[in-house]
Amino acid sequence: MKVTEHISQAQGTPVSFEILPPLKGKGINALWEHLDPLMEFKPEFINVTYHRSESMFKKKPDGTFDKVEVRKRPGTVGICAAIQNKYKVDAVAHLICGGFSRQETEDALIDLNFLGVDNVLVLRGDAPKNESSFEPEPGGHKYAIELLRQVINMNNGIYIEEDLKNAVKTNFCIGVAGYPEKHFEAPNMQNDLSYLKAKVDAGAEYITTQMFFDNKKYFSFVEACRNAGIHVPVIPGLKPISTKKQLTIIPRTFHVDIPEELSTEILKCKTDAEVEVVGTEWLLKQSRELKQAGVPCLHYYTLGKARIIANVVKEIV
Ligand SMILES: Cc1cc2nc3c(=O)[nH]c(=O)nc-3n(C[C@H](O)[C@H](O)[C@H](O)COP(=O)(O)OP(=O)(O)OC[C@H]3O[C@@H](n4cnc5c(N)ncnc54)[C@H](O)[C@@H]3O)c2cc1C
Repeated sequence: MKVTEHISQAQGTPVSFEILPPLKGKGINALWEHLDPLMEFKPEFINVTYHRSESMFKKKPDGTFDKVEVRKRPGTVGICAAIQNKYKVDAVAHLICGGFSRQETEDALIDLNFLGVDNVLVLRGDAPKNESSFEPEPGGHKYAIELLRQVINMNNGIYIEEDLKNAVKTNFCIGVAGYPEKHFEAPNMQNDLSYLKAKVDAGAEYITTQMFFDNKKYFSFVEACRNAGIHVPVIPGLKPISTKKQLTIIPRTFHVDIPEELSTEILKCKTDAEVEVVGTEWLLKQSRELKQAGVPCLHYYTLGKARIIANVVKEIV
């Protein structure tokens, strides 16, 4: 089933979860241990992130270094199929431009189609940590909208190889990312919204937001979307804070603000166990208010935080 169908048919406010593939070398059991406690909340769908490879320098016995490409978290396509098989819950495969050619993306889409994964979230991806700006892969896409058009093409039976006869039309439901606090590279919100509208006009059926810690930012963003002519569902993305370090890591990594009221409470905490209590209460407050406002779904970034998410979701479902 498509994410849009889950949203339109849900009774009450549905929940969904987002997970990362395990690090290379780890088995799937680590993932099941993470997801099992969350399944009692009957998520409508589970998103699985996609990751590019990164360059690393490996020291050789003679003291010199070799530059090697390492993809630390492969497996998105297989994990989506495994989730659908094990839990009978729809998976949403993230797809990114960065690090992948159009041909590799087409192959991944063919695999997803064969495996019965109907949902994709198309994204650009970020520059590798050691590079200052995003550069597309040779033969790859520069912006998420180009990747979106590739998926739309396949939904119309148009593949890269033009002379395919009677190529099967895929039927992917396509989501895109939105930023209540603006994408960090965009010069201003209006500019960012104009590109978001272009993605929706090109065929994106819903938006999932970057995390935010102040619901006012989400409500203003949805209003700005509507004023800009964007009328698809906007799914709020939510993440708990559980350590003091996150007060600096989250703004630096995700380019989002932490409200003063929350940071003040966290700074008063003596241990991370106390931070977790504050972070859980904050997330619960956010979730309740969003539910009350009738959001299409509550989407939780769960990485390593299954216990906190479970404590919040059990109070609101
Ligand atoms: C819900 C969610 C899930 C994510 N999952 C992943 C994941 O699984 N893997 C991963 O690597 N990253 C993921 N990310 C991070 C994401 O890849 C980055 O935020 C990335 O920097 C932007 O991706 P995008 O799809 O919004 O890009 P785009 O829509 O391409 O936008 C990127 C920037 O370019 C601008 N822009 C867009 N189109 C154009 C155009 N045609 N011309 C000029 N400027 C343009 C936009 O305003 C924006 O500033 C996720 C983010 C979110 C919010």
